[in-house]
Amino acid sequence: MYTYYIGIGSNLGDRENYLSFAISELTNTEGVHSVVHSSWIETPPWGPVEQGPFLNGIVKVVSSIEPADMLDTILHIERLAGRQREIHWGPRTLDLDIVWIEDTQGYMVRVNELRLVVPHPYFWERLFVLEPLQEVYPDFLYQGVPIRVRLEELRSVES
Ligand code: AMP
Repeated sequence: MYTYYIGIGSNLGDRENYLSFAISELTNTEGVHSVVHSSWIETPPWGPVEQGPFLNGIVKVVSSIEPADMLDTILHIERLAGRQREIHWGPRTLDLDIVWIEDTQGYMVRVNELRLVVPHPYFWERLFVLEPLQEVYPDFLYQGVPIRVRLEELRSVES
């Protein structure tokens, strides 16, 4: 059994509806035992492409699905939401990223494959990932640093 923390975002069309769609698809996936999500936060767009603001959050999924199969599951849900990969970094109806995985003992699961890298390479730099992550996982620690401390650091750099 694994606990997945999945980053979710949308900045195209009915954003809230796309996020709810992803939650119900995950909930109805075989091998998924529970799904809990953070509140949705509005975030300015990032990267070089001009586009609208995102709604972002974190979904905590407890599941027996192996990491590579979970990647296929979320890619499938993105496709169902009509996601097209035309513009790199461009606007998307639904974006799902596996941010963090733990095993049943609460140990971090590392994946370093061509298709899948976990922890997600930039998660520790991104307020829009860490703010909702703190909501669903307030005791989260990375390399000995509590998430609360990291958020303070990132907020002080931003302001
Ligand atoms: P993006 O277009 O930014 O959503 O990137 C999606 C691609 O990133 C997928 O096709 C995956 O193969 C790859 N990828 C690598 N690591 C991850 C991860 N931790 N979560 C989701 N996708 C990943």
